[in-house]
Amino acid sequence: MELAGQCLCGKVSITIPKISEEITVCHCHMCQKFFGGPFMALEGVLPENFTLNGEEQIQRFMSSEWAERGSCKACGSSLFYHGLADNEYYFPVGLFAEIDHAKLTEEIFYDQKPAFFHYKEPTEKLTEAAFLQKLFADSE
Ligand SMILES: [Zn+2]
Ligand SMILES: [Zn+2]
Repeated sequence: MELAGQCLCGKVSITIPKISEEITVCHCHMCQKFFGGPFMALEGVLPENFTLNGEEQIQRFMSSEWAERGSCKACGSSLFYHGLADNEYYFPVGLFAEIDHAKLTEEIFYDQKPAFFHYKEPTEKLTEAAFLQKLFADSE
C-alpha cells in the first residue's frame, strides 16, 4: 500500500510509496513512554524508500545506544523509532489516515504489556527474550 501522513500540526509529513500492510505492536516500556501507549508500528523502511518533509522540525532523541526516536518540535507528535544499526525507520500508524486495510500481525515485548488490555486480533506474541532470540537468529 501507499501511505501519506503527517504530525498533528502538519509541519512534518511522510510519504511511503510502498509498504506492507502488516502492523507490529511493541509493548516495551520505552515505547509506552514515548508513544503514550503501545507502539503500533509499520514495518521498518530505509530512508531511500520514503520521503520525509520538515526535517528541521524534527527533534531526535537517543533513547538507547542502538536507536533514536523522533518527535515534532512544534506539536510534540511522536514520529518514529530509528534503528541505527540497520538504518530502518519505524513509523506509528497514527500518523497515517488511509490505514484501514492494515492488519495487526505481531506483538513484541509481550511480557511488558500492561495487564488491563488485550488485542482480540490473532497475533504472534513474543516476549522480550523470544523477540531478541528471533532477531539474533535472523541476523545470522
Ligand atoms: Zn507537528
Ligand atoms: Zn518498543
